[in-house]
Order: sequence, then C-alpha cells, then structure tokens
Amino acid sequence: MDILDHWLNGAPFAGESTRTAPVYNPARGVVQREVRLATTGDVDSAVQAAKAAFPEWAGASWNKRQGVLFTFRELLNARKEEVAAILTNEHGKVTSDALGEVARGLEVVEFATGIPHLAKGEYSENVSTGVDVYSINQPLGVVGIISPFNFPAMVPLWFFPIAIAAGNTVVLKPSEKDPSAAIWMAKLLKEAGLPDGVFNVVHGDKESVDALLEHPDVASISFVGSTPIAKYIYETASKNGKRVQALGGAKNHMLVLPDADLDLVADSAVNAGFGSAGERCMAISVIVAVEPVADELIAKIKSRIEGLTVGDGTRGCDMGPLITKEHRDKVAGFIDVALADGADVVVDGRGIEVDGESDGFWLGPTLIDKVATTSDVYQHEIFGPVLSVVRVETYDDGLELINSSQYGNGTAIFTNDGGAARRFQREVQVGMVGINVPIPVPVGYYSFGGWKDSLFGDTKAYGPDAIRFFTRQKAITSRWLDPSHGGINLGFPQNG
Ligand code: NAD
Repeated sequence: MDILDHWLNGAPFAGESTRTAPVYNPARGVVQREVRLATTGDVDSAVQAAKAAFPEWAGASWNKRQGVLFTFRELLNARKEEVAAILTNEHGKVTSDALGEVARGLEVVEFATGIPHLAKGEYSENVSTGVDVYSINQPLGVVGIISPFNFPAMVPLWFFPIAIAAGNTVVLKPSEKDPSAAIWMAKLLKEAGLPDGVFNVVHGDKESVDALLEHPDVASISFVGSTPIAKYIYETASKNGKRVQALGGAKNHMLVLPDADLDLVADSAVNAGFGSAGERCMAISVIVAVEPVADELIAKIKSRIEGLTVGDGTRGCDMGPLITKEHRDKVAGFIDVALADGADVVVDGRGIEVDGESDGFWLGPTLIDKVATTSDVYQHEIFGPVLSVVRVETYDDGLELINSSQYGNGTAIFTNDGGAARRFQREVQVGMVGINVPIPVPVGYYSFGGWKDSLFGDTKAYGPDAIRFFTRQKAITSRWLDPSHGGINLGFPQNG
C-alpha cells in the first residue's frame, strides 16, 4: 500500500519510523493509503531543516517573500479543484464545501501578501533632544503548527502564509486522518519559489506533537483542535518557554427571537448545522428558541432536512460522511443519550438512505427538540450532524444559557430588532458573533478566535493578531553623538 512521506527540505522524507496510520476514504469506508507517524528524531530532522533555512529566509527582502506569496496565491487559485478533490477524498466533505474551504484559506494568503505594509514598525523623532526611537518587527525563528482533521487545507493556511511572509520557517504537523492536502500545499509552495527548508511537514500523533512542544529550537506553537488537547498544548508549550496560541472546541448557539424571519432562520440552521456534516468548529449545534417560535421553526427545519441528500461528496450531494467509523458511532451514540434523557428526536439520522457505498461512515441530519441543558447532548461538543433545540421564555434566559457555556467560539442572533441585536453583541461572552449570519467566520483581515475554553492564549489566528504572533518587536533608541552629549550622570535617563 502507498505510504505518505513527510516533507523536508523541499522533498519527501521517509524518516526512521516504522509506525504508520491508515488514511480512509470515509465515503467508501476503505483504507486508501497509510501515513508515516514521525518519531522524535524525525521531528528533530524537520526542525533542523527549518532552523538551517531560517537565516537566509529571515534576511530575504520583504519584496522577495511577498513575491513568493503572490505566486503561491495564483497557483492555489488556479488549481483549487485539485486540492478540493483531495479534501473530499480523505475528509469526505462535498466538493462545493471543499472549494469553500480553499477559498477561505486563499483569503489569508491574500492578506499575507500585504506583509511589507502590515509588518511596518513605528518611528518617533526627537523623543529627547537629538534622540529617536523606532520599532522593528522581526521573525521568531522556527514555528510549529499543529492542525485538526476538519479543515486539512484551511487551518494550516490560517497560519503558514503569515508565518512565512514574516520571515519564519515552519514545521507543520497536520492531522494524521487526512494528511495529503498538507503535502500538496508543500509542493505548491516549492513551485511558487519558496526555498527548501522554509516549509516542512511531519506527520504523526502524540509522539510528534510532544517532540515539537519540547524542542528547544521551536519558538512558537499554533494549534487548532479539541479543547482537552488545546489546553494540554497551551500548558506544555508555555512550560517549555514557547509563544503559544491554542484554539479549542466549540458549542455554538443560535438565538432566535420571536420577531425573526423563520424561513431565513430555518435555512441558516440547516446550512450551519449540517454543512460539512457538522464537523466545523463554527457549526451551529444548539438552537435557542425564544417562545413561541419553537414549534413553527422545528417544522420548517424538519421539512428542509427531508430535502437533503447525503452521500459521496463527489456526486453532488448536500452532505458527506463523518471522518471515521469510531467518530460516526460516537456521534450516533448521542441520539441514544437524547432518548434516554427524555428529549424528543424529531429527525433520527441513523439508517438514512445514502447515495454512496454502504461501508461509508454515514449518519444523516438529526434534529433533537427539548434537550435538557443537563444532558450530555447539550453539555458535550458532538461534532456531527446533530442539531439540538433548547426552548427558553425570554431573551435574557437565552443569553444566560449562552454565557454559561464553557465554550465561547461562535454564536448568532436572528432577529429584525436592531436594538436587541446591538444589546446581544455587547452582552454575549463569545469571541465571534453573527447578526443574522449563522457562521460568523471573520474575513482574512480580521482575526479568528473564541473566548473561554475555545482559545488558550492571547492572540487569535490570522489577521492583525497573526502579525503580532509571528513577529517579535524590538524598540531601538538612537542618537548620533556630538560633543554636547558628553558628561557624567549616573541618574536614570530622562527625556528633555
Ligand atoms: P484533536 O484535538 O483530536 O486533534 C488535533 C491535533 O492534535 C491533530 O493534529 C492530532 O494529531 C493532535 N493530537 C490528538 N491527540 C493528541 C494528544 N493526545 N496529544 C498531542 N496531540 C494530539 O482534534 P480533531 O478531532 O482533529 O479536530 C476536531 C476538533 O477541533 C473539534 O473539537 C473542533 O471544534 C476543533 N476545531 C477548532 C477550531 C477553532 O478554530 N477553534 C477549528 C477547527 C477545529
């Protein structure tokens, strides 16, 4: 069987490991290739390659780095169907959704091409007589990126274009469940003229992650994944003296006020709940319906679900399979929990008819009403096509529910009342807020990140925060001496 190698110094690298993991086609339920799982030594080889490439890349002009990114942007845009096909093949998401993922990643590449402007320092003339102060932004060195399975192209693209543009060199550890997109992008970067060693990929599991977290030559870690691992990454990388941003899981609520347009709400709930089979950190997983709208809204959502097609992502279906059989079974298990906890399963996605092979990891869209907030269905991030409804009596009840969540990634309010929406944007304890927008992923020139257990660290992904994260600021105080500057004075320097 085909084994996917790491990528080091601009070429495939087998490394020393004998361990591999299976990479499935989730729509067919078959293993289509194996991926190597790096040892600590393999990770060290990648870090050494990145370290060796750093001085020259950090010393390259802004114009040179910007030029590589412009070319990469053109290549990625021209060949997006190629990488989208890889995403569908290994992740399962349908072709249109895979293309959407690439488009959102492209936004960050476009943002990064502005690096000469974005990374400019500041200058103050004459802070004291004849003394000037200015700041410069310098790259960190070797930066580590660890990404999840659900956006195999977009999440790496949140980080590496800006890291590279700022003069850093990169070691990416993508998800071992769908690792091929990372290698495809590495080849594209080489084609775009990126010098060898600036961008490296190691595949692996905990061993490779720990090797990155503990490596003395890795300056920073950018992580996206589930909350328990994000917390572990934040604590371990910080303990090892690294700059770290660790984005975690989510449970995103959609608050529906009685004055909302319920057809628009139902469309949005279905799109945001079941797109990518609910395997999005910005998926809507809980509808908080302010009564009396619940019955009418549920009927509208149910009728839309009945029109959805589930199947192989290459066949024009609305929704594809889940990533693995284990994950599919875990998500389906929440439907049993809902029944045991007395909720009302309005649509049960088990046993759905699919346009695909029977061994695929299928679960149809599922709608559960009257979910108790004490139930595991409400308490846990399910990360699948399961939409819960919680009924509340007032806006305040809904707000309190959202603000009590351990997560604070995304949320949305649906209303035609501008005053209520404005109040919500001020009062809600969540990092990304949609007003009549169900998946409020900020555009590339704003930063992406949640609050509470959805983000550990103080800088978000891409946008202005990424410029700060991937550079170190240096402040320089300078004067050009003339005889008037002489004399002895042991006091603390003061301006004058
Ligand atoms: P995950 O936490 O299982 O894995 C993420 C990465 O960590 C992978 O590269 C994996 O190999 C590695 N990893 C897994 N277990 C590890 C361990 N014990 N020690 C060290 N490294 C480990 O997440 P996933 O299942 O790949 O992705 C889904 C999760 O990611 C969901 O919780 C989702 O909400 C979250 N997510 C969050 C965002 C965000 O922006 N906040 C975006 C996308 C996904």
